[in-house]
Amino acid sequence: MKIAILYPPITRNNEFPLLTQNRQFKFSNSLQVRIYPVVMSYLATLLKNNGHQVLYLDGINSRMSPALFEASVLKFKPDFAVMETKAPMVRAHWEYIGLLKEKLEETNFILIGDHVSFYPEESIRNSKADYVIRGSDYDLIITDLIEHLSTKKGSMPAGVYTREGNTGPEKLYDLNQLPVIDRELTRWDLYGEAYLYHPVAYIMTGRGCGGSNSNKNFTSNKETTEKYGTRMPGLCTFCIWQYAYYRCSARLMSPKKVVDEIENLIVRYKVKEIFDDNESGAVWNIGWLKDFYEEMKRRDLLNKVILSSNARADSLTDETCQMLKKLNYRLLKIGVESGNDKTLQRLKKDETVEEIREGIKRAKQYGLIAMLTTMVGYPWEDEEDTARTFRFTKEIMLYKTHFGDSLQSSIIVPYPGTPLYKEALKNKWFIMDPEDYDKFDMAHQILKSSIDSAKWCKKLWRIHLHPVFLLRSFLTLRKWQDIKLAFRGLISLLGHLRDYEK
Ligand code: SF4
Repeated sequence: MKIAILYPPITRNNEFPLLTQNRQFKFSNSLQVRIYPVVMSYLATLLKNNGHQVLYLDGINSRMSPALFEASVLKFKPDFAVMETKAPMVRAHWEYIGLLKEKLEETNFILIGDHVSFYPEESIRNSKADYVIRGSDYDLIITDLIEHLSTKKGSMPAGVYTREGNTGPEKLYDLNQLPVIDRELTRWDLYGEAYLYHPVAYIMTGRGCGGSNSNKNFTSNKETTEKYGTRMPGLCTFCIWQYAYYRCSARLMSPKKVVDEIENLIVRYKVKEIFDDNESGAVWNIGWLKDFYEEMKRRDLLNKVILSSNARADSLTDETCQMLKKLNYRLLKIGVESGNDKTLQRLKKDETVEEIREGIKRAKQYGLIAMLTTMVGYPWEDEEDTARTFRFTKEIMLYKTHFGDSLQSSIIVPYPGTPLYKEALKNKWFIMDPEDYDKFDMAHQILKSSIDSAKWCKKLWRIHLHPVFLLRSFLTLRKWQDIKLAFRGLISLLGHLRDYEK
């Protein structure tokens, strides 16, 4: 079979969509946010390993012209074409599939993504897509689907929607059956973000947010539960992947499997830094981290590469921070969301402002770099609440500032299907048609708010320009690599400030 994995370069006002493995979507001019689509890359690798011919074409991050992109697809004449979508792009993708289908009548189009995981039938109804796949494990589901269709053996896997019906809720697969990713096939060199040392590569230690240390019971996959115990998963009401993809569970791959991937990246590609783009990394699980450490040590890989990860602040105990340092973790991307307990409770963050403060400060004391993510524009927050978030963020940014500390700020987006979207519908918070998906692109105010969200976002981004922050960052610059990172960071910051001037 010939299978194409497609990210068409559909632009809006000459800006490209931040689509590949992005939880938060917007159109941007910036080349500084190019996140490697790990799950799509597993799919490409699985298909190639099964003997299929694979065309991996990321027209967005390679900045390919629409004409060249289309010509490449037409020349390849795929039997199957797989496309990832999100709410603000879904209508454009329906249209694009329609256009391609006129020229490629025999091609079967497969849509995946968080939006279609919530609403698979909508895309079957409104587009020429032949298959819609639900859930996070679309790599394994599509592999099984294509095996079934090409060999006519077995049955269609769960989680597949077609015009004839569907095969029911998707199952969560054992992630240890995944291969080492074919990085060349999937153009790993195209990707990276401003705040990471280059060459950088992305991995996922698992799928789903392991959540807080509340130790409430939840159902995870059997192997993880047996080995590492149970705890409360992440349940934040805005967290689209945790709901659309993972059904609020968390699975980790075995440390051995993760180290196989890391070893390949060090030996073959000589990467400087590896970013774990799993929801809260594996940082939430100290038992896993200890096994990971032993495996890295056994293979003599400790200190051969810098590791960075997403993380929750309440996971950052002394023991975890010590272990992260031993493993050569550098940067943690940590969700602050708000400086108000009432907001954190309402979002089901399962952390208090104090816990977030303590966790991040502790990590900084251990020399870990903190990248904070904050949001503004919650319908229930007023000017004073937002000012509190600003003061809180500034306090943490100025605490033991080290070069690399940074923040991201965005306007809250209640993506369709999330609990926050349902809450917004119930409380009539939308100031536009809630089914006008194109507007969920961060360029539009979509929820009622008593504050000027763009102004506050910009104010938060500008903390990077605070004299104390700048001075301490400068004084802790250590290497030539840091200067290159600082330069990329500055360009990225200017881009973000421009985004809020529109
Ligand atoms: S802690 Fe982060 S990853 Fe986990 S559910 Fe909340 S937003 Fe999602």
